[in-house]
Amino acid sequence: MHRLDTDVAPSRAAFRPSLECWPDAGVYQLWIEVSQQMGVQIGHLGRFVFPVGRYIYTDRASRGLRARVSRHAVGGQRKHWHIDYLLAEEYARIVSVVLASPDPNDECAANQRAGDGGRCIASGFGSSDCRAGCTTHLWRITEPRPPEPIRQPIEGRISEHR
Ligand SMILES: [Zn+2]
Repeated sequence: MHRLDTDVAPSRAAFRPSLECWPDAGVYQLWIEVSQQMGVQIGHLGRFVFPVGRYIYTDRASRGLRARVSRHAVGGQRKHWHIDYLLAEEYARIVSVVLASPDPNDECAANQRAGDGGRCIASGFGSSDCRAGCTTHLWRITEPRPPEPIRQPIEGRISEHR
């Protein structure tokens, strides 16, 4: 049986329920908690101040979705995407991951729903290759109620072993 990275070496985080029940393509949303205000240099995009709060980051994978989510959850890799710079910070952690849609084409629609109850902190974050003109793919959530996922959400909690 094929084993996921999370099952092999969950050095910092484990995923419950297992990622095996996820499809290998789709739109995922990382729920991130920032526990202390911090300034972070996000690659070439610039330096931004992230206030304390809840954030939702939306991205897609046409394949390798499970490996991607696992990579975010475990952390510690080379910084490649904007999100890697944020997640490398001590005061930023993933609290939940949601499969917003099994169709990667729903990425911007899911992001715009998240943005409905959100505020842009870093313009252009994760949206460099966005074709729908999104301001950002990372929203600071100001509404108490989370946005509705597009369809059939699967939610996973990250358990940390730090
Ligand atoms: Zn977009």
